[in-house]
Amino acid sequence: MDSTITTTNENCEVHDQKVLNWAKDIIENRSSQRLIQKEIIDAVDRNAIWRGQECLNLLAPEAPTSPIVRQLLASEVGTRAAEGHIGPTQRWFSGTKYIDEIESLCVELLKKVFKSNYADHRLVASMIGNMTVYASLTKPGDNILSISQPFGGHSSNRYDGPAGIRGLNIYDVPMDPVELVVDIDKFAKVARQVKPQLVTLGASMTLFPFPLKEISEIVDEWGGKIFFDGAHQLGLIGGGQFQDPLNEGACIMTGSAGKTFSGPQSGIIVWNDPEQTQSISDTIFPALAATHQVNRVAALAASAAEFLAFGKEYMEQIVANAKALAKALHERDITVLGSHKGFTETHQVILDVKRFGGGLEVAQKLEKANIITNKNLIPGDKPEDWDYPSGLRIGTIEITRLGMKEAEMDIIADYIVSVLEGRETVDSIRKRVIEFRSAYQKMHYCYD
Ligand SMILES: *Cc1c(COP(=O)(O)O)cnc(C)c1O
Repeated sequence: MDSTITTTNENCEVHDQKVLNWAKDIIENRSSQRLIQKEIIDAVDRNAIWRGQECLNLLAPEAPTSPIVRQLLASEVGTRAAEGHIGPTQRWFSGTKYIDEIESLCVELLKKVFKSNYADHRLVASMIGNMTVYASLTKPGDNILSISQPFGGHSSNRYDGPAGIRGLNIYDVPMDPVELVVDIDKFAKVARQVKPQLVTLGASMTLFPFPLKEISEIVDEWGGKIFFDGAHQLGLIGGGQFQDPLNEGACIMTGSAGKTFSGPQSGIIVWNDPEQTQSISDTIFPALAATHQVNRVAALAASAAEFLAFGKEYMEQIVANAKALAKALHERDITVLGSHKGFTETHQVILDVKRFGGGLEVAQKLEKANIITNKNLIPGDKPEDWDYPSGLRIGTIEITRLGMKEAEMDIIADYIVSVLEGRETVDSIRKRVIEFRSAYQKMHYCYD
């Protein structure tokens, strides 16, 4: 090995050194670049078989896209540069007449899905959407309220994300640890003291709707605004299965297209007020997006068209499956949050797995049985328990798209409980999971 390559962590690189060393070893020892390239392709193929065909993916922020959307992600247009706004005069480069068609279809379809006056298609991630909101609706030193991580709040709305980068003073939205919703009385008190310019609602862990109308009446007293980070619920909102934030007092909404919406991973942003349009547009371009991946825009437009046709039925089944899976786990003596109020109104089911060793241990054990979930902070954990939280988050997006319904949720609950309680070896459960999953290989709620 080249002596200039550091093998210890002295260089402060954040990544796992063992895994990086595995890669260095391959790069050093293959006899040609072509063989190195083949290692990459092989890893992609291994993932496609394992995650794509043999696993039960219960990750709440993950969705399989339709075959058409996946094909568009590899299309020729993805090699073209198209900075600027749609139309012949506001682009930097010429040659964009068909790209204008793709992008205008995308914008108009997004407006239709989310019943909004404005939408933008250029955000490569929802994180960039949240940065757009803070850059265009706040100034450094402003006060905001957002949800802390143990209640599902996302880093993008806290000190370690865009809200922090913008130099905002961030106060917690008071949450009720039993009801798992905003504690509106405490909120009124804190908000009237702090008088935030912006209240950020929406979370990575969301089981129940937010009291948007009540909050909106309170912040109206000093002209405060509500921003809804709908990263997770975007599809449920578009499909009419969750509250409609823009209609209930939020002035702007962002979301991840690759979560419940089931499009290509990227961000969307929608709003209604013409007075916000200039600052939002100026922030997106030229501040946060230049070449914005037109292949992704084409895929997003295609998924929005698909969503208008199948979204309502698909999102309904996602929520029905989440309720059924939560009930099945609860009946098998697993601690499921929100059990006194029907478990969930979204695609998520949240378990307290402290007695099984905590979220990390349980998620790793389930992975060995080909069941993919994620460790999660839950109320009662501290934000710094991030690596070793007590909870586990489960979502029903992918299993629903593969055609599973309520009856299959009982079978999945049995697999999960078998792993948690060590009723049989993980090897034997993995074999049964692969066999079960083999019958579900086709994407539903899309065109062939
Ligand atoms: C996932 C998530 C984000 C970030 O979304 P990306 O599309 O991955 O950038 C932002 N906010 C919340 C609440 C999220 O759950």
